[in-house]
Amino acid sequence: MSKSRSDPTLQMAGCSVSALSAGTACALPSQSGISDFILPEDYLKGAPRRDLTLPDGGRKLVLHCCCAPCSTAVIECLLQCGLTPLVFFYNPNIYPHEEYETRRLELWHLCKLLNLECVNGDYEQERWQREVAAGLELEGERGQRCLKCFTLRLDMTAVFTLKRGLKVFTTTLATSRWKSKAQVDTAGLAAQQHHPGVTYWDLDWRKGGLVERRYALVKSIGFYNQRYCGCAPSLKSAQPAAKQASGPS
Ligand code: SF4
Repeated sequence: MSKSRSDPTLQMAGCSVSALSAGTACALPSQSGISDFILPEDYLKGAPRRDLTLPDGGRKLVLHCCCAPCSTAVIECLLQCGLTPLVFFYNPNIYPHEEYETRRLELWHLCKLLNLECVNGDYEQERWQREVAAGLELEGERGQRCLKCFTLRLDMTAVFTLKRGLKVFTTTLATSRWKSKAQVDTAGLAAQQHHPGVTYWDLDWRKGGLVERRYALVKSIGFYNQRYCGCAPSLKSAQPAAKQASGPS
């Protein structure tokens, strides 16, 4: 991926609740079809104890999020460590648009409950088809298409990080056991190299009790059940019920 990628048109998700509000309802758009979930009583209190510091020594970073189920435990961990994530949803891989909106709105709702800023990148499906999937439609998961998919998404995350004047970004992409952390790290480091001034934080978000915490939160919150990674080829190859809520994009 080159430096010449155009900036995404950034759209504010309108997250402006005044205080951290575990147990508080924030209504989803009525047409969304997503359950109006609340946070469990032990949110933050039940997080595994970690003592994380950012590579730049700061308190704020960009967190690229693929969906709410993959993000919940990571966000909780960051908050528990006194770090503030600026959530960035740039996932043009997700198909069809209805599925994209479902995942986007669920994450938006989570951020609203937590008083976190959540920014959407463009839904560049045509670009994703052209730059990522073309010729690689038959690749399996963890193949070349996935590496290119991560590369596009994290390259744009690096662009966004610079645009917002921050220095560090990370992603929830490798929280799922279906994903290759090595591929995600390769993409993150490439983005760092292409955009001097930003650092990709390669922390392993599957360690330190976060996988167990993720499953507990997903179960208690009752997120929408994702049945495939996200893109059209993964939808096509998904076996019925092969992937449950814990294995998304
Ligand atoms: S399977 Fe998932 S990671 Fe791989 S290309 Fe499709 S959406 Fe991207």
